[in-house]
Parts: sequence; C-alpha cells; structure tokens
Amino acid sequence: MEKIIQRWYDMIRINSVNGHEVNLADYIANQLRAMGLEPHYSYFPEDAEKKVRPSVWTVLESGRPGKTLMLIGHIDTVAVSDNWDTDPFTPTPGEDGDRVYGRGSMDMKGGLAAILETLEYYCVHREAFSGSVMACFVSDEEGLSKGTYQLVEEGITADWAIMAECRYDNVAIGFRGRFSFEVTVHGVAAHASHYPNVGENALISGGRLAAAIEALPTLKHPTLKHGTWCVRYMEGGNAGTLVVPDSCYIFVDRYVVPGEDDKLCIQQILNAAKELGLEGKVDVRLKPRSSPYMRSFALEESDVLVTTLQAAFQSVTGEELPVAYDASVCDSNILAVSLGIPTVTFGPSGGGMHADNEYGHPWQVKNCAEIYRRMVTELLG
Ligand SMILES: [Zn+2]
Repeated sequence: MEKIIQRWYDMIRINSVNGHEVNLADYIANQLRAMGLEPHYSYFPEDAEKKVRPSVWTVLESGRPGKTLMLIGHIDTVAVSDNWDTDPFTPTPGEDGDRVYGRGSMDMKGGLAAILETLEYYCVHREAFSGSVMACFVSDEEGLSKGTYQLVEEGITADWAIMAECRYDNVAIGFRGRFSFEVTVHGVAAHASHYPNVGENALISGGRLAAAIEALPTLKHPTLKHGTWCVRYMEGGNAGTLVVPDSCYIFVDRYVVPGEDDKLCIQQILNAAKELGLEGKVDVRLKPRSSPYMRSFALEESDVLVTTLQAAFQSVTGEELPVAYDASVCDSNILAVSLGIPTVTFGPSGGGMHADNEYGHPWQVKNCAEIYRRMVTELLG
C-alpha cells in the first residue's frame, strides 16, 4: 500500500472524535519526527492541565530566506452513531475501490495525509524551494476552534495558507462570518388583573422587536451576497403567576459579509428598538463565548494563491477548478481575518460528511498531495 494511503488508513483507525485528539496528535508527531522534523505541541487554556487535546505544528525550513506557506487541517472529527454499516474506525474500501468508508475519511484525514505526504517529499528535496513550509494539525475545529485560536495566540504567521478541508470540486476563497447576540427587553411587572392600565408586557415588546430585527437590512457583497438575521430563541414570562412579564430574552444569529462587524449589528438592533419606542428598554450584547467570533473575508479571484492552485489543479487533473464562496464559517476565517493570511480552502472530499457511512476517495487524497507539492514549488520555488 502506498504510504499516503497507509497514513490515511492509520489516522481513520485512531479515534479522534472532538475532545479526544491526543492519540492522533501523537501519531502525527511521530510521523514528523520520522521525517526529521520537530513537532511542537500546543494546548489551549482549558486543556493546559490535562493536556489531552493538543494541536501539533512544525516548520520545514529550506535553509534559504523566503516566504512561508502554511498547510493546515484539523485532527478532530465529529462523533459516530450506532447506525453505520461498517465499523467507523476501520477504513473499509467499497467494492469498486472508489470509496473508503470511515469516520474522518472525508472530514478530513485525507487532507492530513496529503499534508504529511507533501512534507515528506520536501524533507528530501529542500533544494527545490526557498523559505519554509509550515504545517499545522489543529484540535477542536468541530467545536469552538480553540486549537486554531491558540496558535493565533502563540503568534503563528505565514504568507499564504492552504486549508486542506474537504472541498474538491471548487476552491473556497471567501466565507461569511457569524455573530450571536443576546437581546433583553425590559417591561414593567404588575398584577395581571390590572393590565393594561398598569404594567408593560415585555413579551409583546420583544415580539415586535424580534420581527423588526429580522427585517433589518444587511450589507451586500458581489459574491458572498448578503448577511442574514435569524431570531433563534426567545423566552420570558411565567405561566404560573399572575404577573405581567417584565423581561423577554431574544437570541439572535447573524451571518455577516465583509464590512459588517458586531458593533454595527448591535447598533442596528438598538436603532430598531428606538424606532419602536423602546429606547432605554433594550440591552444588547455579543453572546459571550470562550473563542472569538469569526468575521467574514473574501480573496480576490486574481490573487496569486488562487491562480496558482487553479493552475496546479489543472496540471494534475486536466480540469478547471472554479472558485466558490461559502455561506458559513470555518477555521479559514481565523487565518484570514485574525492573522491576515490569504487562505484558500481546498482538499480531498467524499460524502457523508458529519453523517453515517462517511467516505473519501483515495484518488482525491493522492491528487491533493500532488497539487500541494506543485504549489510549494510554484509559490516558494
Ligand atoms: Zn472539516
């Protein structure tokens, strides 16, 4: 069996469901050591004591000054159900050999195998490039992306990044961003028997505000189209007491395009409240979470990173690789926005992502390794 496929199989066999990344991190560190590279472990604060959820990164130096290309992927997977037709931790080829089933076969252990293959090639061909190739294998992408945020904290940097996520039919060069807001609408409690002469019903005010929030405008973007507002959850009142509700909680999800940030969104909600006569009765805050929120970005289609990837794809497959823009968020947002690294998202794909009977394609894993290999020469050669 070819080494790249062997590693892909090895990694599928290692259960690295989100929260249990350490065994796969150790496997990758050992592979790096065997190539003569030094693996560095990185732990996010919540795991600083237990040390069971590391990310691993390394730098392959050419020995000559130049730029840095980062190859990055996540080592965690989503969990498995009891409904698989095969053992999710046993890589199982389909009958025609086109598919291999297993958790992470698509998302994204094929991408990790392609990165390792690329590193191994350049470890013995250091004369073929200048500058350095950095590789990051991060934990918690399927959770809150704490692995990648920790690397940001530790000051990783690069001139370009390839996120080897499962996306083979096109390359994603832009993503929307996402924020969550907590809105509290205040009313005035009173005995319900005297309402509405006394009291002010926060549920009614909250309902009016919720409808107004969903009608708020968003910025437009030529390719990411527009943002969205979604009122996802509301609560307030007490069915067991004769009290006019004095508080209503509204949870709002907001996808954004470039140019929209949390401050702008909060101001929009406050303005909507003012127009409804609710000025001073509404509090809005970004919902606290342990990792920063992801903002939106889009690369130019003419960016050298994009055109180099497209040319490499064409030379390996004979086909065109169209650009795409994604309506959601991923770790690419962190690299592009928090670190300002031009980032493309492209890697071996498959089917059944986050579902039962996930599968990947061996030929895509191999093609991606070859495409990454050519990109190193093109960008750093
Ligand atoms: Zn993924």
